Amino acid sequence: MNLLRVALDVPLALLFDYALPETLQATLGDRVVVPFGTRQRLGIVAGAASESEIPAHKLRPIASVRDDAPRLSPEWLELMRFLAGYYQRPLGETMIASLPPRLRSVKPLPRRSPRDAGAAGDGSSPARFVPSHVPTAAQARAIERIGATLGAFHAFLLHGVTGSGKTEVYLHLIARAIDRARQALALVPEIGLTPQLEARFRHAFPGARLAVLHSGLNDAARTSAWLAAARGEADIVLGTRLAVLAPLPRLGLLVVDEEHDSSYKQQEGLRYSARDAAVYRAKLAGCPVVLGTATPSLETWHNCLAGRYERLELPERASPGSRLPDVRVVDLRREPAEQGFAPSLVAAIGKRLALGEQSLVFINRRGYAPVLACHACGWAAGCERCTAHLVLHKADPRLRCHHCGAAAPIPRACPTCGNADLSAMGRGTQRVEEALAARFPKARLVRIDRDSARRRAELPRTLEAIRRGEADILVGTQLLAKGHDFPGLTLVGVLNADAALLSTDYRAPERLFAVLEQVAGRAGRRDRPGEVMVQTRYPGHPLFAALAGHDYAGFAASQLAERRAAGFPPFVHEAALRAEAKKLDSAMRFLREAARLVAVPAEVRVYDPVPHIVTRRAGLERAQLLVQSPSRAALQDFLAAWSARLFQTAPRTLHWHLDVDPIEFD
Ligand code: ADP
Ligand code: ZN
Ligand code: ZN
Repeated sequence: MNLLRVALDVPLALLFDYALPETLQATLGDRVVVPFGTRQRLGIVAGAASESEIPAHKLRPIASVRDDAPRLSPEWLELMRFLAGYYQRPLGETMIASLPPRLRSVKPLPRRSPRDAGAAGDGSSPARFVPSHVPTAAQARAIERIGATLGAFHAFLLHGVTGSGKTEVYLHLIARAIDRARQALALVPEIGLTPQLEARFRHAFPGARLAVLHSGLNDAARTSAWLAAARGEADIVLGTRLAVLAPLPRLGLLVVDEEHDSSYKQQEGLRYSARDAAVYRAKLAGCPVVLGTATPSLETWHNCLAGRYERLELPERASPGSRLPDVRVVDLRREPAEQGFAPSLVAAIGKRLALGEQSLVFINRRGYAPVLACHACGWAAGCERCTAHLVLHKADPRLRCHHCGAAAPIPRACPTCGNADLSAMGRGTQRVEEALAARFPKARLVRIDRDSARRRAELPRTLEAIRRGEADILVGTQLLAKGHDFPGLTLVGVLNADAALLSTDYRAPERLFAVLEQVAGRAGRRDRPGEVMVQTRYPGHPLFAALAGHDYAGFAASQLAERRAAGFPPFVHEAALRAEAKKLDSAMRFLREAARLVAVPAEVRVYDPVPHIVTRRAGLERAQLLVQSPSRAALQDFLAAWSARLFQTAPRTLHWHLDVDPIEFD
């Protein structure tokens, strides 16, 4: 009799033995339907066995074998094994969660209609490549160097300043991969916000089959794009984080654009880093991987310094006549702000208005004001379910919690003392917009943040209107920082950089530098020079000097020196064990007991548990415990033993998870 080991989406690390009836054929990588308890479940054949611990008469048979999607390849199974092992999640959960929802179901897909090509492009004409530009010398060097490694694993950092033509380099390399009959996978942080990018890919490869894969697609579209990738039909897969999990039988090139972006880290379930997974995939597939950015993550930079990744530089903007903007700090101690604006920033915006050029005001906080308070008694509006203030919103008038999404009406008077004169403290995008409207009544203002972008469908049109010059002043959060190309934009003003400088999170300077460099990169992308003004009370901070010199290398060197001295990543490796419970005590007790579950080797350090800064979120109290080791291998061995015990012993009533290489600690 034939015995197969099947991975199922259950919270256990093991595979389950099933008998393969004579009438069925199945092998490694097949999706199968099996009885489990009283139900049927979808599983993936992940192994075979010659004998089982389950007595033969109790062994249940596989019910059916699915042929509505291609068999999953050994390489894909290996990727899943790696991810499940590295991020300490059950193999079955890892595999099944990475399938599009329709392929996780025990119900087969409807029969494939002949018109269902899966990927756009008719595929009848061979893929042509239409480059938009003749490469600059620096681009040509990068294309040649990376192109020479097609066919073997090699990890590159493409370090190019904003507007240096990184995308153009990706397109040339993708063309070469397609020429070799290989598939290319290009990961981007966010697709919805950059419809231009997809258009650019389609324009560059008119005959190619392009599959777009992200979580915003409906089930049918996502399934069909996934199938196009998995069947080897798509030449190019352009997608967000989850696209790195799609099977790609002819994979020959991986690109991770904006590799430093934190959206590559999944924050639930399998907490994988798509960037790190991409590097591992390139190893498995024996092909190059290109990590592109203007502001590399310190991990990636460190990997270059250590010789693990090869660095290629694009030091200048590609477009003739365009150069990097001038950055200067506005000293708020000498020039006190009114309504959030230093007089010289207001004057600079006025000057651009007179010239018919665009300005962008960047503030990293949405809403009207972060706190609504009563000065008579000290009351401040707080969220009932979170350790957080409610944010005052005026566009859709409400108090909102930015942690759990709760909303409440705006009180007319203080609920504790009855004072009717409540004060809005601090400012967010809506208040900044209001101040600008008062100061420049004739200017056409556009605010872009997660609230204004809620109706996603409108956003591409708004961005297009901005590109056409139908706006004078833009106010926005990070949503405006990345990727956009606004030809008329020549001034960027940054309002509240200091909040990040004062943060206790050791990653805050790295993030601030990246976002400021990105937002600065929106200015002066054509022949008119750009200018960036950063308001701060700490004009002497070395971060601003590095920013003004567009000196990423200098900034990275000083950050790495600090991290080394303090014993932070990338010089140590980390994992966090987190727990959530109704009472903080239960979470803390669970973590304290967890710390004693298995012996801790000498190279691994387990810290005491601490409550999160936002301790209560959505009604649950949260605490975490940090584990560190200078040795990746020692940490991994420890985590494997530890998580096995945790899965066995943790009470069902308590939520807990392990986060390997965590990046958020709020
Ligand atoms: P990045 O991805 O580094 O931000 P892009 O590839 O988007 O840069 O290029 C930035 C701008 O420069 C775009 O407007 C692009 O059309 C233009 N560009 C790119 N490469 C060249 C080139 N070789 N010659 C002229 N312009 C170029
Ligand atoms: Zn009061
Ligand atoms: Zn809340």
